[in-house]
Amino acid sequence: MKSLFPAICAVWMVAGAAAQTAPTAGEIADRLTANDLKADVSFLASDALEGRGTPSRGLDIAAEYIAAQFRRAGLEPAGDDGYFQTAPFLSVTPNLDGLELTIQIGDKVIQPGHSSIAVVDPVAVDLGKTLAVWVSAAATERLNALTPEQVRGKVLIIDSAASGPGGRGGGRAPATLLARLRPALVLLLLARPGGRVSTSAAQLRDASAAAVPVLLVWDEAVRKALDEAGPAEVAISAKIAAPSSVPVKLRNVVGVLRGSDPALKDTYVLVTAHYDHLGVRGTGEGDHIFNGANDDASGTASVIEIAHTLASFPSHPKRSVVFVALFGEEAGLLGSRYYARHPVFPLAKTVADINLEQVGRTDVDNGSRVGLVNVTGYDFTTLPRALKKAGEEFDIQVLKDERNSDSYFARSDNQAFADAGVPAHTLSVGYMFPDYHQVGDEWNKLDYENMAKVDRTVALAILLLADSTAAPEWNAANPKTERYVKAYQGLELPATSK
Ligand SMILES: [Zn+2]
Repeated sequence: MKSLFPAICAVWMVAGAAAQTAPTAGEIADRLTANDLKADVSFLASDALEGRGTPSRGLDIAAEYIAAQFRRAGLEPAGDDGYFQTAPFLSVTPNLDGLELTIQIGDKVIQPGHSSIAVVDPVAVDLGKTLAVWVSAAATERLNALTPEQVRGKVLIIDSAASGPGGRGGGRAPATLLARLRPALVLLLLARPGGRVSTSAAQLRDASAAAVPVLLVWDEAVRKALDEAGPAEVAISAKIAAPSSVPVKLRNVVGVLRGSDPALKDTYVLVTAHYDHLGVRGTGEGDHIFNGANDDASGTASVIEIAHTLASFPSHPKRSVVFVALFGEEAGLLGSRYYARHPVFPLAKTVADINLEQVGRTDVDNGSRVGLVNVTGYDFTTLPRALKKAGEEFDIQVLKDERNSDSYFARSDNQAFADAGVPAHTLSVGYMFPDYHQVGDEWNKLDYENMAKVDRTVALAILLLADSTAAPEWNAANPKTERYVKAYQGLELPATSK
C-alpha cells in the first residue's frame, strides 16, 4: 500500500548514519493518511463483522485483520501466539436455583425476593450467619482504606443506593478493590436495577483470576433498615449454587516497534484502543448491528496507521513502542485489565499509555469539533505536555474538556493501566455523539481528514515520549491521583530510574 520505503532507503544509503534523525511532522503527515484510516474503519465497522461483540466471530475476524496490518507494518509479534495475547476466559451463567439471601440488620430480618437480586461473578457460596462490613460507595476514602484483615471471611456491603440515581457504576463493584480485599461475599446495594443488570445473563471472567461473588440487591426494605439502624450489627446468610461455565478464548493483539537506544529500548510506551463493540442486539425488522465505527473502530484504525507510519521510518525511537488492540472494553475493560494482570512487557518499565477512543466523529458534544482533541485526566500526569507540543505542528488543539476530562478518565481502558500505576490517558475528539452506542455508528459518518490530523499529533507525541530520557510523571499535587501514585510507587522499579 505504501511505496515510500525504497525511496527512504535510497536517501538513507546516500546520507549514511547522519540520516538517522527523528521523523519530521511533514514526513509523518505524508505517510499517515485519511484514506488509509477510512479503509481500516470501513472494514472493521462493516456489517460483516457483526458489531464485534465479545466474544464473537466478528471480533475474531477483526483480530485477524489487526494482526495482518501489524504484520504489514513490520511490527515484531509480542503475543504468546504470534501477535495474539491469548486470554483464557470463562463464560459463566449464574444458577439461580436455591438462591437464598438473608440480611439481618439490628433486630430486623429481611429476605429480598429473587426479583430484586442479581448475581454477578457467580461462585458457589454457602454462608451461615456472617458478619458484614458496611461502607457507602460514596465514602471512597473509607473503601480504599479497608484492609484484607478487616474484610477476610466477612461480607462486604457497598451501598451505592445512598449516592442516588444517576450515579455511574450501578451494577459494577470496584474490581481491583475486591481483588485486593477478597471478602467472602459482596452485596452491592442499588437504588434500582441498572440498565446492565440482568438476573441470569452469562458473564465473562478471566479464568486465571479468583472471582469474588457479588450480589446486586435493590430492595427498599434493606435501605430503610440500614438508614434506621445506624451502626447496628449487620449479618448475612447466603446460598448461591455453582454456576455453569464454558471456556472462551479472547485475544489482545500486540505488536512492538523495538526501540533503538541500548538502555531505553527496554522501556515501553503503550498505544492502545479497544477493537470490540456491542455486537448484534435484538431481533425483527430493521438494523440490529452495532457497528461501532467511532467507538472504537476509529481508535483501532488509528493504532494500526500510527504503527504503520512509525515503523516505516528507518530510525526507530529510543524507547520501544507497544501497539495493543484490546478486547472486551464494552464488557468492562476486560482486555486492558487482562493485560495489566498479565503484562507482556513489565509495567514497571512501561512509561505511558496513550489510549484512543472516538477520534473520528466531529459532530460531538452538541457542536462541531474540528481541530481539537480532549485528554481525560488532563491534569493527572505530565504526559499531555508532549501531546500539546505535537498538536502545534498539525493545528490540533490538545485540550482539557472542563466538564468531562476527569469524569471520563474511568470510562475507558486507560483506567486499567492507571490502576496499575502507569501514567495513562484516553484521547477523544469528543464524548457524546448522536449515534453513541446505537446501530447508526457507521463508518461513513467520520471526519477522516480531521482524524488523520489527530493521529499525526499522537504519532509525533509518541516519538517525543519515546525519545525523551524523562518519563511522564503523575501529578501528586492533584488529590485525584492518589491511588494511581500509590500503585506507581508499588511497581517494582520507580519509572524515573528507567
Ligand atoms: Zn469505546
